[in-house]
Amino acid sequence: MNQEKMNLPTKISLKPFNTWGVGGSCSNLVTPKTINDALDAYLSAKHKEELVYILGGGSNVLISDSNLNATVIHSVGLNKILLNKNTLNDNIEIEVESGFPVQELLAIAVKNNLSGLEFLTGIPGTFGGVLWGNAGAGQEDFGKSITRLETIEKNGTLRVWNRDELNWKYRTCPFNSRNTVMITKCFLSLKEAPKEGILEKIKKFAALRKGQPYGKMTAGCVFKNPDGMYAGRLLEDAKCKGLYCGDAIVSTAHANFIENTGNASASDIFYLSEMCKKRVYNQYGVELEYEIRFFGDF
Ligand SMILES: Cc1cc2nc3c(=O)[nH]c(=O)nc-3n(C[C@H](O)[C@H](O)[C@H](O)COP(=O)(O)OP(=O)(O)OC[C@H]3O[C@@H](n4cnc5c(N)ncnc54)[C@H](O)[C@@H]3O)c2cc1C
Repeated sequence: MNQEKMNLPTKISLKPFNTWGVGGSCSNLVTPKTINDALDAYLSAKHKEELVYILGGGSNVLISDSNLNATVIHSVGLNKILLNKNTLNDNIEIEVESGFPVQELLAIAVKNNLSGLEFLTGIPGTFGGVLWGNAGAGQEDFGKSITRLETIEKNGTLRVWNRDELNWKYRTCPFNSRNTVMITKCFLSLKEAPKEGILEKIKKFAALRKGQPYGKMTAGCVFKNPDGMYAGRLLEDAKCKGLYCGDAIVSTAHANFIENTGNASASDIFYLSEMCKKRVYNQYGVELEYEIRFFGDF
């Protein structure tokens, strides 16, 4: 690995790398261009017994205001993609690295008349980030399109997972509680379909976004929907809309979004989200679970 090109000096601000625009710094930010470089970065951190965080597009994380004494592996340099026709079933197989932007993936699918990714409409971030949180919309997610996945494991090896080893659940990826550090690449199988149908589905998913704050600094939904309920509705009924802490405010458009209206800190956002969580618990006895992920201590 070319250390000079890939490792920047200490105390790198992480504010530019997340959609809330908050957070402190880290001691080591690495942007590998190949999977082997990512593995080397992980092994080097492991050797130094340093904490490791994997950062994609930063659109679903809250990064603490302090300095993370950690290596942050920024996946955006892993951005290769390959399309091949499977002659056995006529499907198109896509091999895509985890730093690839999901909106570009959707654009490629539309251009090639491939159906199955329409649910990505309006979801920012990278492919790895989407998979790690099993992001989705409506009832759809990546689960059924994925045939194989490659990961870096805690013991420092690469592992390939087949479809039948992966159990996708609502906003939970199969690795979250296991020994996996990073998703490096993934294989998808998509079917060709008429473009009109694909565009129609995209319109349907775009319509689901009406009522969400647009063009604001947010990280999407802060909380997961509890079984059979909508977190946004519970938060709204608990009168959370418009609550604020510093420059962080619970969106008046959708109560499950927190906006940074200027100079909010990560602590402001955390304090506000905890306040909302308590309100819902006190009023409805429902313990909301965070959808966003945390880097550092809170
Ligand atoms: C305006 C807006 C709308 C959104 N709409 C939706 C929506 O409709 N549905 C939905 O589910 N989400 C939504 N989100 C949330 C977010 O966009 C998705 O969860 C997104 O997929 C996160 O990808 P990312 O690359 O930004 O991940 P990051 O925010 O960088 O990381 C998120 C988590 O994934 C981990 N991670 C990232 N890459 C990897 C990797 N390669 N290997 C292992 N772990 C990794 C990180 O460590 C972290 O724990 C929205 C966010 C915004 C800002």
